[in-house]
Amino acid sequence: MSHVDAPCPHLEHPGNTSPTSRVCDECVALGDGWVHLRACLACGHVGCCDSSKNKHATRHFHATRHPVIRSLEAGERWLWCYVDEVGIE
Ligand SMILES: [Zn+2]
Ligand SMILES: [Zn+2]
Ligand SMILES: [Zn+2]
Repeated sequence: MSHVDAPCPHLEHPGNTSPTSRVCDECVALGDGWVHLRACLACGHVGCCDSSKNKHATRHFHATRHPVIRSLEAGERWLWCYVDEVGIE
C-alpha cells in the first residue's frame, strides 16, 4: 500500500499489520461494550474508537506511540495519524 499524496510521513508508510482481533479485547476483559473498532497498523492491536467509553485505540497510541490506525468497520477505508492529526481515505 503506497500513498503518494500522503499528508505526513507516517501515512506515507503506514504499515500493513493485520488486525489481531475482531473485538476490543480490553473492553471484553472489562465487560464493557464499544461503538466502533480501530486497528493499529504497526502491531495489529485492535481498540475501540473515541465514541466508545474506554477509547482503547487512543490509549494504545499514548502507550506505544504507534502513529497510524485504520477503521475496522465494514465499508470504511480511511487511515488516521494520531501524531499529525490528519487522515486519508
Ligand atoms: Zn503522521
Ligand atoms: Zn475498548
Ligand atoms: Zn500498535
